[in-house]
Amino acid sequence: MLIKAPRGTYDILPEDSSRWQYIEKIMKETAEIFGYREIRIPIFEHTELFERGVGETTDIVSKEMYTFSDKAGRSLTLRPEGTASCVRALIEHSQYGGLLPIKWYYVGPMFRYDRPQTGRYRQFHQFGVEAFGSNNPYIDAEVIILLIEVLLRLGLEEYELHLNSVGCPECRGEYRQKLIEHIEPYQDRLCKDCQTRYTQNPLRVLDCKNEACHQAIEGYPTLFSNLCDKCQEHYAKVKETLIENEVSFMHDDNLVRGLDYYTNTAFEIHIPGIGAQSAVGGGGRYNGLVEECGGPDLPGIGFAMGMERLLLAVDKLGEKFAEDKEPDVFIAVMDPAYESQGMKILQLLRKAGIKAEKDYNQRKAKAQMKYADKIGARAVILIGEEEVEKGFLTLRNMRSKEQFQVDPQDLVRSVCKTLLID
Ligand code: ATP
Ligand code: MG
Repeated sequence: MLIKAPRGTYDILPEDSSRWQYIEKIMKETAEIFGYREIRIPIFEHTELFERGVGETTDIVSKEMYTFSDKAGRSLTLRPEGTASCVRALIEHSQYGGLLPIKWYYVGPMFRYDRPQTGRYRQFHQFGVEAFGSNNPYIDAEVIILLIEVLLRLGLEEYELHLNSVGCPECRGEYRQKLIEHIEPYQDRLCKDCQTRYTQNPLRVLDCKNEACHQAIEGYPTLFSNLCDKCQEHYAKVKETLIENEVSFMHDDNLVRGLDYYTNTAFEIHIPGIGAQSAVGGGGRYNGLVEECGGPDLPGIGFAMGMERLLLAVDKLGEKFAEDKEPDVFIAVMDPAYESQGMKILQLLRKAGIKAEKDYNQRKAKAQMKYADKIGARAVILIGEEEVEKGFLTLRNMRSKEQFQVDPQDLVRSVCKTLLID
């Protein structure tokens, strides 16, 4: 039986990979300009890390994790997101002992057992940043401005930034109780998930994907109207800074990140017109997480963007990615006896930074010229009987069709000249 890629995974073929290289480059450049440095974390971790770091009542941990036992019977999980691993690495390497804040970014595949559809895969890719060690609202703004800067550099000017504050453990604790009391009389009208989770984590009902749940609890008290003074101040400063830096946003009472150690700023970015899965990124402050994972009481904030959905949005713009994959030079040998000489010239050109190719399929001389044309070579170096006997090489400009005899000693210079004037 023919083996295919597992459901929810896909290949990025070479003709597609330039799009990926392009967006990765923009993400990395932008993050570096903002002072974030790359961290590379493992693809799998101890399952417990995500149970603690992502939260047991989240969709991710309750049903989406790729968990397996290794040969020694340890429970491991393919990373469903990057924050938990960053927090683990921060603690494991005592990075908090140095200069603060610590600003990291990562790019790579994540794994979730989701129902595959457009914009939703089982192996997908995220770009994310984390900033540890500052509770200053200006760094909340920085993280959001960085995310928007990535969108703008990708040409994505039409975004919707949803913003909310989920408060601190104190004000949220009181609020939780109020919300549970509000939901209680309507619990029969909630979806199955919400019926079981509303007592444990009532905030999850607010971001349930089920419209019926929202209708059932209409008129609910908002977290925003229950924030303590300090949390209100923090939120006001973030909003003010975004306005001052020309980032538009909308306050969204329904936006909660369901996790307990999320605090204050929460945000999500949508790009209209890319289908049902319009969220391209989300993030927020998580002041309780480092401590929850066994580290010191260190504040943190970050976001993650879904690269597949961003690419969908970039494709909608209809711009072509600059492709520069064609070879500069093709080496055509008129007889297999000259192949070894062709090989040496190939390496000489490549060492000089010239993209060079030769035939590897024993094509006839004429077919080699056709092949050179097809792969888009801008120049061809011909090695035939006369060339070998008289000790020169023939250089052909494939656009102007002009041919010259060149001195092998002077080959790189001649090739460069031909490519330049072409
Ligand atoms: P959703 O509500 O779409 O399931 P989420 O809240 O689970 O998203 P986050 O955990 O906030 O998503 O991840 C950040 C971003 O990663 C999302 O905004 C989205 O762009 C992307 N993403 C999440 N899950 C997937 C997936 N299964 N396939 C592709 N992209 C995804
Ligand atoms: Mg999800």
